[in-house]
Amino acid sequence: MKKRDRDHLNLLCDVGELAAILTGSDNIESFLQRTVKMVARHLDAHVCSIYLYDESMKELVLTATLGLNPAAVGKIRMKLGEGLVGTTMDQLQPILEGSGSRNPKFKYFEEADEDRYESFLAVPIQKGVEKIGVLVVQHEEFNYFNEIDVMALRAIASQLAGAIENARLLMNLDQQLGKQSVKDIFEGLRFIRGKIAASGYAFAPSTVFRRNYRRLMIGDPASDPHSTLKDFYRALKMTGRQLEELQNRVSERLPESAALIFTAHFMILKDESFITKIVTRIEEGLSPAEAVRSVARYYISAFASSSHAYMREKVVDIEDLANRILANLRYKKLKDHPLMRGHIVIAPDLYPSDMLKLASEDVKGIILVSGGVTSHVSILSRSMEIPLIIADRPEFLNLPEGTPILIDAEIGNIYVKPSKKVVQQFETRNETKKSVASMAKTMSRSTKTKDGVRVRLLANINLLSELGLARDLKAEGVGLYRTEFPFLIRSSFPSEEEQYHIYKRLFEEMAGKIITIRTLDVAGDKLLPYSDATGEANPSLGLRSIRFSLNHRDIFEQQLRAILRAASKAKSLRIMFPLITSVDEFREAKQIVFDCMNRLSQLHLPHHGNPAIGLMIELPSLIEIIDQLANEADFFSIGTNDFVQYTLAVDRTNEKVSDYYKPYHPSVLRGLSKIVKAIVNHRKDLSVCGEMAHEEQYIPFLLGIGIRNFSVNPQFLPAVQKCIANLSLVKAESFTQALLSETTIRGVLNVLNSKRES
Ligand code: PEP
Ligand code: MG
Repeated sequence: MKKRDRDHLNLLCDVGELAAILTGSDNIESFLQRTVKMVARHLDAHVCSIYLYDESMKELVLTATLGLNPAAVGKIRMKLGEGLVGTTMDQLQPILEGSGSRNPKFKYFEEADEDRYESFLAVPIQKGVEKIGVLVVQHEEFNYFNEIDVMALRAIASQLAGAIENARLLMNLDQQLGKQSVKDIFEGLRFIRGKIAASGYAFAPSTVFRRNYRRLMIGDPASDPHSTLKDFYRALKMTGRQLEELQNRVSERLPESAALIFTAHFMILKDESFITKIVTRIEEGLSPAEAVRSVARYYISAFASSSHAYMREKVVDIEDLANRILANLRYKKLKDHPLMRGHIVIAPDLYPSDMLKLASEDVKGIILVSGGVTSHVSILSRSMEIPLIIADRPEFLNLPEGTPILIDAEIGNIYVKPSKKVVQQFETRNETKKSVASMAKTMSRSTKTKDGVRVRLLANINLLSELGLARDLKAEGVGLYRTEFPFLIRSSFPSEEEQYHIYKRLFEEMAGKIITIRTLDVAGDKLLPYSDATGEANPSLGLRSIRFSLNHRDIFEQQLRAILRAASKAKSLRIMFPLITSVDEFREAKQIVFDCMNRLSQLHLPHHGNPAIGLMIELPSLIEIIDQLANEADFFSIGTNDFVQYTLAVDRTNEKVSDYYKPYHPSVLRGLSKIVKAIVNHRKDLSVCGEMAHEEQYIPFLLGIGIRNFSVNPQFLPAVQKCIANLSLVKAESFTQALLSETTIRGVLNVLNSKRES
């Protein structure tokens, strides 16, 4: 073996010195870069790298390296337990390998250029129980490192741990004191990996979404245009025209919300006292712009202090309207929302109704710094094909307006101020990517497994605008129509007539097919802005879904009558209740449907006289009473999103507990299996409509327990059909048995992973 020029003592002293001069104002990356150079030099190693642990993503990120390709910094990421580096962090133990590539855990990253390094030594960097990162050295020679190197690196790692932790603390403190410079924000956010809520790709300037946005209203009178009362009337007229145009465009994309997004705008625009107040101020000597601002502020403060949630929501509409008038006074073109259109929107949180507004404003993409991928906002963004990534990084909210951002929601990456090269790469990829709609030609009318078992594919519909795609992709019907979305976008409960027209379109556009309408499923994360009844501390366990309907019988009956009337000519109608907890509740809801039919008959109103009545299985409480329910219900649909949430007590909208949201938990799998067995025994119709139904890793399991109906968002239909066509039922069943025999999460994961690798 070649004589090695190693010098542990000096190395320790040098790193110690370096660590001592690191302060929070220093850039951690440049400190780590100096460290890896020093370690490599003293150990005569060919490679030295530091991977820092990103707690929010549970991933190690290559942060500094000497020897590997510098372009890989920030890009190579490993989960705990993944590769030798991830295993070092997971087990909190050094790994010393004479030939790293022979270790079965070794993972090769092409972008790192590390194929020629044989010897491998990694030590964890930790502070108490806190994981900080991994320090790695590599060498071309076999068996280059020894136990003394391990000891030396461990000593260095403990020095680094303290230094890095202090630097991070100081940086956080600076942030809290608001001292963080824009440069620091960019440094921390250059490349972020988030969770994909709705796939796609977007490159656009950023803007931060705040619900009570005041900034635009703070105008500078000195820069107001010289305008007159006549200009004000002209601006008012122009604003009305532009809003009408915008409304027409919205109605193409969101028919159920047509006319209603801008109700408040039009109401105020036509309000005599609003106009008179402005005119009076102008006549008193204010400039038209200042007069508009002053009256708008007056309305805003009145609305903001209202005790009704519905009125408070209107503040945003007044701001928007005032800004449109102000822009028109300047002859500026302000066709749409001045802030959101064409932007990537960064939001602290969003209501589904915000989401619909954003869609109407044609935003390019969304970064949400809280929330979960099965939340309704995520589901809705998929329906509207707006790429959405969830990243638990509140610093995003501090990004200056207009920062160029690229979101790659195919793999969950966010690039802040990306280089030209990155943008080009994505544009090329985006152009070549086939749109889902173009796959219609390749879809078969019916779906079968490899061994010929027939499976039915249905569509989950959230918005009427999705029906076209569902038809093109040959959905055999609607397995779930979420009726709450028309309710969420409205400024008050839609009337029976309004609902009737919406549901009628559903039956017309899917004529002759199975249609499953779920009754109102509000609260939880689907809050009605106008209903103060939903202001609860714990809405997921509160008066939601069928409980809300049974407690507001008038609203429930109006909805049922609208459904029954809209389906008067339909061949089949399936009415489904959400979040049923007991046989008693199901019977009560079912009786109300019969009462509604009787009432409609008395009124001689045409309606469907024989609907199938079923329920969603979303709660573990149904496992023990499923046989009785199967005697009484016509059909069932399993809502795995809520079933997982309630079985595991994990809020599906809370990013902080998203790691606990495990559809593969043995209790979830076994619970589902028991339910399906009972329903199949009773020969009742059964489907799955939660997100698990389109996730390829769970499809064999669902088939294996007996599911033959899958209801998924239309854009997933091609992938689900392809996945099923490649599976044989016999194999899916034995795989399912293997999954069900596992008693631990880790055990199930091993079985799932072995399938993925096979
Ligand atoms: C579910 O819970 O799985 C479901 C389909 O209903 P939602 O996502 O609307 O709660
Ligand atoms: Mg649900």
